[in-house]
Amino acid sequence: MNYCDLQMHSTHSDGTDSPRRLVELAREAGLSTIALTDHDTTTGLPEARAAGDDLGVRVISGVEITCEYGGKSMDMLGYCFDSGADALQARLAEIQEGRRQRNLEIIGKLNALGHDISYEEVVAEADKSDGKIIGRPHFATVMIRKGIVQERQEAFDKYLAEGGAAYVQKLAVSPEECVEMLRSAGGLAVLAHPKLIRFPAGVGIRDLLAALKDAGLAGLECYYSLHSPEEIQQYLALAKEFDLLPTGGSDYHGGNKPEIKVGIGLGDLRVPLSCAEGLLARAAQAN
Ligand code: AMP
Ligand code: ZN
Repeated sequence: MNYCDLQMHSTHSDGTDSPRRLVELAREAGLSTIALTDHDTTTGLPEARAAGDDLGVRVISGVEITCEYGGKSMDMLGYCFDSGADALQARLAEIQEGRRQRNLEIIGKLNALGHDISYEEVVAEADKSDGKIIGRPHFATVMIRKGIVQERQEAFDKYLAEGGAAYVQKLAVSPEECVEMLRSAGGLAVLAHPKLIRFPAGVGIRDLLAALKDAGLAGLECYYSLHSPEEIQQYLALAKEFDLLPTGGSDYHGGNKPEIKVGIGLGDLRVPLSCAEGLLARAAQAN
């Protein structure tokens, strides 16, 4: 039980397993600690914590928030915050409304391209789960079912990903604001999957880490399903250089990313328990 998984998505956003099921899967995978990191919402946390109490798995509060960096989206993870903090919840509600507007615009673009798909169908797909947070994976599922595309990656490549024909940028806060909103709720901000960050010309990861460290960034997601062993070592060295806590997670989404498994990602991911312990110790110090 020396491993953890600090990035997991449930039916409260764009995963296909309930929070309780995630805890069961974590236990089956031999993990002693997980964090639930649904997009823009913390509504799954009570169920995850209750399941964690029942099954002997420690559950850390988490969330994943999209930021805007150099005109592109970039993800920030939050951990160990007080999910009852009013200011955090008020800002998450605004971000959720921005997501709803973005979703309606995606439907408008798909319709303008001649595709028969309604927002009600996408909402119904999300509502099969607990989904109050509707994300692009729900669009992809409906698009496959309706024959608009053959498979999930095609939905993203042709339509939903940046550069796709129906892509719409959603309301995204600055990384600095994101760090601050998490800190003001007693939490820790962690820069997610650095491999996936698109840097503006002439800017590198050291520039970003230096700026965000000044803004109060606490950690860097070094272990991640799509990071190679060499990349993991590089990110661990960067975390050390910038005095950031190394963290890691699979980015499990159930059937919405079927190749990724709880705790082990694509097969060989192992996130040391020390990552979770580091977050908990730092949060305890800070509060
Ligand atoms: P959203 O929060 O609605 O913007 O959707 C974000 C989710 O879409 C991510 O968590 C991924 O699961 C998925 N996603 C984003 N970009 C891609 C991509 N290029 N290919 C496949 N899935 C993607
Ligand atoms: Zn997602």
